[in-house]
Amino acid sequence: MLIVPEREIADLMTREAAFDAVEKVFAAMASGDAYNFPVIREAIGHEDALYGFKGGFDRAGLTLGLKAGGYWPNNLEKRGLINHQSTVFLFDPDTGKPSAMVGGNLLTALRTAAASSVSIKHLARKDAKVIGMIGAGHQATFQLRAALEQRAFEKVIGWNYHPEMLPNLAKVAEEAGVPFEAVDLPGMDEADVIISITSAFSPSLMADHVSPGTHLACMGTDTKGKQEVEAGLLARASVFTDEVAQSISIGEAQHAIAEGLIRESDIAQLGAMINGTHPGRTSDDQITLYDGTGVGLQDLAVAAAVVDLAVERGIAIEVDF
Ligand code: NAD
Repeated sequence: MLIVPEREIADLMTREAAFDAVEKVFAAMASGDAYNFPVIREAIGHEDALYGFKGGFDRAGLTLGLKAGGYWPNNLEKRGLINHQSTVFLFDPDTGKPSAMVGGNLLTALRTAAASSVSIKHLARKDAKVIGMIGAGHQATFQLRAALEQRAFEKVIGWNYHPEMLPNLAKVAEEAGVPFEAVDLPGMDEADVIISITSAFSPSLMADHVSPGTHLACMGTDTKGKQEVEAGLLARASVFTDEVAQSISIGEAQHAIAEGLIRESDIAQLGAMINGTHPGRTSDDQITLYDGTGVGLQDLAVAAAVVDLAVERGIAIEVDF
């Protein structure tokens, strides 16, 4: 069995490799070659932690395994550790023997950023110039950094519930050589692409804050009850997702579905567009919305890619298991 510790991931994994792995596995999911197992998420009654498993099998890439981990809210204060903790375990699909154990913390951030970037590549207008960010926390910086590589963006605009966090976005924009401007929510109508990545439980972005032709990647809503955008916006948009079952239950679409504004059959898999079995954006006026809920297969795909890179560089730790 191979081990790739968390400390090695930053030097091994690139945004490009994460993008390729996620794009490929979304395509495999849509063609029926890969599927996610039901997600387990438990409040374990210790340290206020939420712990769970996200697993799946990709028959095309021969990747089988799971990500185990969750959220320990006291880690930072009590122990100086980050609150999100996860590890990916891969198994040999021919034998069931464990093949790798991989640090999953940075990989989670990279695979989540890759998902919104894949959606931008396939759904945003080619001439998109202004990118809008809603959210300025840990994950927002990863989403923005990756998204800036997808179009020739000339400006970043940002809004955050906690405005004191906006310098996080300004820093990423500055590093990419793109000007940053803080805006109020109605000011988001200037954006051609909007990424939302907050932990909100009520909508910030309303339907009339979004101009025709915009592509939205709603990435923060990954749990029942969370919500970032007005449900009516989904009725105005062509809605895409990683996994329809998650989109309607724990994703942004849960609210539009519950309110009867859209039906499950209105939501397409992004992978179908990648495979060319869905036309995707069909006009410059269309609003497209990607509901990124986060699936286990994304984690497995980036973990498998990082194991290959670690083996290539001779830094994977081999243990007899
Ligand atoms: P974080 O704690 O670093 O940042 C939270 C962000 O939400 C900040 O911008 C904060 O200002 C904002 N926020 C908090 N309360 C708000 C409110 N009431 N209204 C509006 N905004 C509010 O968290 P993070 O690591 O950046 O994660 C952000 C979200 O993304 C979380 O909900 C997380 O579960 C989700 N997430 C999703 C995926 C996925 O695959 N879809 C992956 C990782 C994280």
